[in-house]
Amino acid sequence: MKTITILISFLLAVAAASAAETTVAGPKGGRMLIAHPVRAEFFVTTERRVELSFFDEAGKTVSPGTTAVTVTAETTGGRVAVPLVSQDATLVSVEPLPPGDPYRVVVQVRSAPGARPSNFRIELNLHECGECQRAEYACTCASH
Ligand SMILES: [Zn+2]
Repeated sequence: MKTITILISFLLAVAAASAAETTVAGPKGGRMLIAHPVRAEFFVTTERRVELSFFDEAGKTVSPGTTAVTVTAETTGGRVAVPLVSQDATLVSVEPLPPGDPYRVVVQVRSAPGARPSNFRIELNLHECGECQRAEYACTCASH
C-alpha cells in the first residue's frame, strides 16, 4: 500500500512538472499563467508594456479582483521592479520594460493579499518565433 502511495505521489509530481513546462497560448498572443484559481495572460505590447488580463475557467475575461501581481525584470544590471496599475479589467505596467532583453522576468501572482504566491519565471525574448509566429516568450512549439 505504501508503495502505491509513493508511486502515485511520483506520478503526480511528474504530471505537475510536465504541466509547468508547457506554454499555454493566451488569446492576445501572450502566455497564460495558471495559478489556480487565477488564470492570467502575460502579454507584452509593442510599446514593451506588460499587460495582464484575467480569465475564468470558461475563458471569459474577468476583473483581477483581489489578485495581486508583482513583476520583476532580472536585467544584467540588476533587478528592476515593474509597477502595475489597473486599467479597465487589466493590469498594465506604468513604464515600458527596461532594455537589455533577453532577460528573465519573474511574475508573482497571489489570488488575494496574503495568499500563497505562485512565481512564474519567463525568459523575456521578444523576437518572433519562425515556427509559431508568436514572440519567443510565448512560443508554443514543442521543440524548444
Ligand atoms: Zn514557436
